[in-house]
Amino acid sequence: MGALRRKLNRAGLSGLLVTHLPDIRYLAGFTGSSAALAVTRHQARLFTDGRYRAQAAEEVQAAKVDIVSGAPAVAAVQWIAAQAKVESVGFDAAVVTVAELNRWKGALPARLRRGLLRAVDEPLVQDLRMVKDAEELAILREAALTGCRLFDHILTVLRPGVSEIEVAAELEYQARRLGAEGMSFETIVASGLRSAMPHGRATSNPLPRHGFLTLDFGIILRGYCSDMTRTVFLGSPKAGERSAYQAVLEAQEAAVAAVSSGVSCGDVDEAARSVLRGQGLAEAFTHSTGHGVGLEIHEPPRVGAGQATRLQAGMVITIEPGIYTPGKFGIRIEDMVAVTRSGGEVLTPAPKALIEL
Ligand code: ZN
Ligand code: ZN
Repeated sequence: MGALRRKLNRAGLSGLLVTHLPDIRYLAGFTGSSAALAVTRHQARLFTDGRYRAQAAEEVQAAKVDIVSGAPAVAAVQWIAAQAKVESVGFDAAVVTVAELNRWKGALPARLRRGLLRAVDEPLVQDLRMVKDAEELAILREAALTGCRLFDHILTVLRPGVSEIEVAAELEYQARRLGAEGMSFETIVASGLRSAMPHGRATSNPLPRHGFLTLDFGIILRGYCSDMTRTVFLGSPKAGERSAYQAVLEAQEAAVAAVSSGVSCGDVDEAARSVLRGQGLAEAFTHSTGHGVGLEIHEPPRVGAGQATRLQAGMVITIEPGIYTPGKFGIRIEDMVAVTRSGGEVLTPAPKALIEL
């Protein structure tokens, strides 16, 4: 809260309304699905409903808790408006709908409707969340390692004829058994021609006798997400398939090697992109190199072309270049990397040399 209040001061705000649940969890520890948090220079108050009375009492230490019968966000707006010396209250423009804002304004006295609430374009809490503390890093490390164990296990299941859905189901079942609260996004299992779809959902298609198979998956552990991708080969790859894989691997390793505190996200992206460009594969690399990961599967910073954000020790990002040739195949390799003072710590040490099954 201290760091957040310094940011509020710098932004000229006397308060902040937080309604994005991962932000609330980060600031106050509350994990329920209905809440709003109001922060002023000297107080913090969490509003939730009766279903969460016991849970809020157990989880929330950093704020006082109010149980309300109506919408928590409306109660939070009314409470913060009634506090002394609160003239401008920020909210994150990226997560509040126009309808929600109108509801908040409607709940305010007429004289405060125009001036009190201020949309903040640069999300203050997400900004803080970018740099993880030691406790968060320990959870992310454990989540990522659990992902690697799942990958090891799934290698024993993969063979021609097994359906993509069976592969996804086995991954998800084992993830639960290893302590995951859930998957951090819909598991991607894309084989053969479907591997050319960067976000190919698992289908009932059987794994082919010859072709790439992309597995992109992550688990949620104590609220934190893991994310990794490996592409393996069923059968024996032809020379062109092998060299395409080598190009992606080289690009991925170049970007991992570029990670260090002080380096811009754009430069990390360029490290991967320039390798693929050199192989004539620039057009086939159709997305960004990576993204931040933490309480949400996609969070700042964006590791993409031209991104000026500089990496700082404690940030956790993914490095996941890929190439996609419709009608042929796709290949992606993704690691989670924690930024350190002098480089990067790869959190997902699963093998990356092409596995042939
Ligand atoms: Zn992924
Ligand atoms: Zn990712």
